[in-house]
Amino acid sequence: RKNLVVVGASLAGLRAVEAARKAGFQGTITLVGAEEHLPYDRPPLSKAYLDELPPGEVPEATVFRPESVLRDELGADLLLGSPATGLDPVAKEVRIGDRRLRYDALVIATGATARSLPGSEHLAGVHTLRTLDDAVAVRNALDAGARTVVVGAGFIGSEIASGARKRGLDVTVVEALPAPLVRAVGEVMGSACAGLHHRNGTDLRCGLGVERIEGVDQVERVVLSDGSAVEADLVVVGIGATPATEWLEGSGLRLDNGVVCDDNLFTGVEGVYAAGDVARWHNPLFDRSMRLEHWTSAADQGAVAARNALYPASAKPYQTVPYFWSDWYDSRIQFVGVPSTDEVRIVEGDPDRDRRVVALYREGGRLAGALTINGQNVIMKYRGLIMKPTSWDDALLFAEQRRATAA
Ligand code: FAD
Repeated sequence: RKNLVVVGASLAGLRAVEAARKAGFQGTITLVGAEEHLPYDRPPLSKAYLDELPPGEVPEATVFRPESVLRDELGADLLLGSPATGLDPVAKEVRIGDRRLRYDALVIATGATARSLPGSEHLAGVHTLRTLDDAVAVRNALDAGARTVVVGAGFIGSEIASGARKRGLDVTVVEALPAPLVRAVGEVMGSACAGLHHRNGTDLRCGLGVERIEGVDQVERVVLSDGSAVEADLVVVGIGATPATEWLEGSGLRLDNGVVCDDNLFTGVEGVYAAGDVARWHNPLFDRSMRLEHWTSAADQGAVAARNALYPASAKPYQTVPYFWSDWYDSRIQFVGVPSTDEVRIVEGDPDRDRRVVALYREGGRLAGALTINGQNVIMKYRGLIMKPTSWDDALLFAEQRRATAA
């Protein structure tokens, strides 16, 4: 295969390019990106990037590689600010407006787009946070001392609340479900994480929806489903993301909340693979279809998809125990595995009292997930146990031994 085209110039796309060269691929590589920016790292955008800086200091985005490395060392042709608009799998061409780009191997890494609240998009103080441009807008509002309302107590919303509170600003978080992070970690540990908001002075209001947002004289009035209203200068909508697949509609690829792939990240269409937040693939380790929006899997999938796309005869499946982290106030939340609801057991710490908490998730007779708050030294051990796999009883025994050693 002579031509590799990678659509989506972010984490998964960049890792695809790097892995192709590392595997010895000598053909042409074109990296196509909708944004004007060089590939940059997103997690800092809702964390360090929002921190207050001493006067005169300018916030900087974390660009993964300078342009010279991308062009000269990796030998990639960069087409930035050029959203792909279509795919013709018969002619093996990616369309970018009128332009057509031929590929022998294609990696789709177009990620996801933040969901907005319908009807509020035109309001000056209402933002989502997915891109660097979004982060600049949110940062500027925080610099101006914005009273902040965050809609959605997921990771990104909660991190923005943390950032605003660190600056001493008034923050309200509105969450429709009974606790933060319910979809990602379940209700028991979501409620444990809610304590972090309460203890840090964020006004967390769960079980409430947003009816509408009214913009009056530069102030946004967020009207909630119980009839109450909160005034804000900045509203950040953090209600999830949608896989960026519109450009693939009608291409013949199977789209179902993401680009559907097999174990090898192969779409079933000759030469076409997908990676990162946009990919829904079959994870053999859990024998189920998954679409993750996590940094680690996006990076790993980018590399696997490129190798498999270029060397299909030696294609390897991508299997993983999902992992993500999130930083709230001065705490780090980490989660591995899947948030099974069969049983959740807190094996270390009391969420109301202790900084460090460890909880395990049971699915049938085995360990399926683990969550830690400030448990950096143990979380990867649980990831290893889930990978093995490990029975629930053995996992509890392991937790007991850890507790005894720590004590
Ligand atoms: P993306 O990073 O979404 O990149 C896709 C790229 O494709 C974008 O640049 C987009 O502009 C481009 N694109 C879209 N459509 C087209 C098109 N038609 N043509 C060309 N280009 C296109 N994960 C964690 O595990 N821990 C964290 O703490 C964490 N924090 C995060 C904080 C924020 C604010 C955000 C937004 C995400 C965070 N994540 C975190 C998730 C992590 O950043 C993502 O999983 C990762 O960025 C996914 O990489 P990706 O390359 O698949 O997609």
